[in-house]
Amino acid sequence: MKESFVALMLACIVGSCLAELTDKRAMTLLNRYGFSDGEPSTDSDIKRAIEDFQDFHSLEQTGELDKETKALLHMPRCGLPDVQDDGNGRRTKRFVTTPYKWDKFHLTWGILNYTTDLQLQVFNAALQFWSDDSALTFEYTADPTSVDIVISFVSGDHGDGYPFDGTDLAHAFLPVDVSDPISGDVHLNDAINLG
Ligand SMILES: [Zn+2]
Repeated sequence: MKESFVALMLACIVGSCLAELTDKRAMTLLNRYGFSDGEPSTDSDIKRAIEDFQDFHSLEQTGELDKETKALLHMPRCGLPDVQDDGNGRRTKRFVTTPYKWDKFHLTWGILNYTTDLQLQVFNAALQFWSDDSALTFEYTADPTSVDIVISFVSGDHGDGYPFDGTDLAHAFLPVDVSDPISGDVHLNDAINLG
């Protein structure tokens, strides 16, 4: 009886610690994905940030970290914010058209590390989707040092100012300045098992 009571107490303590850690992580992610300025800490800020996240992702706006919201919030994904400040205090969705584009239609691409036949098949198939519905064509080049789109597997802080967090799957760079070598490049988080 005594042992089971102690075990129950321990389970409760560990459980509440885990819940706190999860909530702390949730606040970090809400901030990271653009639903609050800084990690929300007051009850009203937390509720509003959660409601905005739920609204953006077409979930029921409960304002609480329910099971469905938590699952979506902690899911591995692109590390860029869902919404961004447009400079005038308004939040805008990140999926907007941009004036940046390549100055040519035929693009070369290569993989910087861990190149395997399976990776080539997967990336070829993905790029074929783009090619099928656009004027762009893509050509694989075995030497990735001089291609337009360099695909690489990196982890953590990898030197471009956008360190990967535990849930970031990948990010890519628009061809803002095509003379900049990082334009068009794709970084995949090597810390996440994509298999
Ligand atoms: Zn990167």
